[in-house]
Amino acid sequence: MRNWMSLQADFGNFQYRGNVYVFALKMSFLTVLLSGIIMAVTIPPLNFLGLLPVTLSNAIGFGVIFSWLVGGTVSGMLSLAAGFALHELTLSRAEFEKLSRTDTLSGLLNRRAFTEALEYTEGDASLVIFDVDRFKAINDRFGHGCGDAVITAVSAILISAFDEMSAVARLGGEEFGIIISGKPLEARMERIEGVRARIASGAIAAEGHDIRITVSGGVADLAAGRNKQAVYASADRALYLAKALGRNRVVHEREGLHHAWHGLADSGLEAKGRGTESDNVMQAYGI
Ligand code: GH3
Ligand code: MG
Ligand code: MG
Repeated sequence: MRNWMSLQADFGNFQYRGNVYVFALKMSFLTVLLSGIIMAVTIPPLNFLGLLPVTLSNAIGFGVIFSWLVGGTVSGMLSLAAGFALHELTLSRAEFEKLSRTDTLSGLLNRRAFTEALEYTEGDASLVIFDVDRFKAINDRFGHGCGDAVITAVSAILISAFDEMSAVARLGGEEFGIIISGKPLEARMERIEGVRARIASGAIAAEGHDIRITVSGGVADLAAGRNKQAVYASADRALYLAKALGRNRVVHEREGLHHAWHGLADSGLEAKGRGTESDNVMQAYGI
């Protein structure tokens, strides 16, 4: 009976109030039907054995009235109450699930939801990790509140720049992750580069300050059969390289491998006084 009840419940989606009424009506109708079957099975033998306290027609009449008025109504009311309780439960569960997947400050997806989205994405897509450059200095100079405002403003730019097909998340601190789908890779890179340029060209107004920021990005491609952790690690390495190459730029993993192959020492980073960073990048690429 419990399984049967839950089967009836599964049929209705309790997210919508209308379905609660449909569920109650269905339960009410089924109760009447069940009562009818019980009557049909019990009244004739009782009548045959002369055990009916009233006439057959009266017994049928009472049975119908009780099954319809009492059984049907009571079952309908109870189902309605249970249905609305389930409706509330469904809504709060959906709200809870949404909260558990949302970053509180930015309203973007959080890291958990992003990892999930990454798992479900296959082919013709890129993973970008954007990181605000020298963000600690913004906190130090303008205060933590302004730092938060910068995170919120960057989130708004990212949300407006990428369509609903893209997953945009705050991975933590001032680091953002985006999964961009669509062909070809060049078009995806153009969009990513466009966002970087847009952020660099404007100022963010926060607590009376006009704060100019830049972001660096690392990009890696998703391909069928390619391990998602490897994609993430590759995008992270590319971001690391973007930082080492002077920030305010987007580096694709292929470019990263190119730099790794030729050695960052040749790119003159030491000459610019960033020897440690170039050493780290070369280490990251196993040189
Ligand atoms: P880089 O260009 O290499 O990325 O330098 P950076 O200063 O941006 O990087 P770093 O990792 O040194 O600094 C990140 C800072 O972000 C440190 C931390 O205090 C700050 N931070 C992390 N989460 C939040 C947050 O939610 N709000 C604010 N305002 N600051 C945060
Ligand atoms: Mg940073
Ligand atoms: Mg960071």
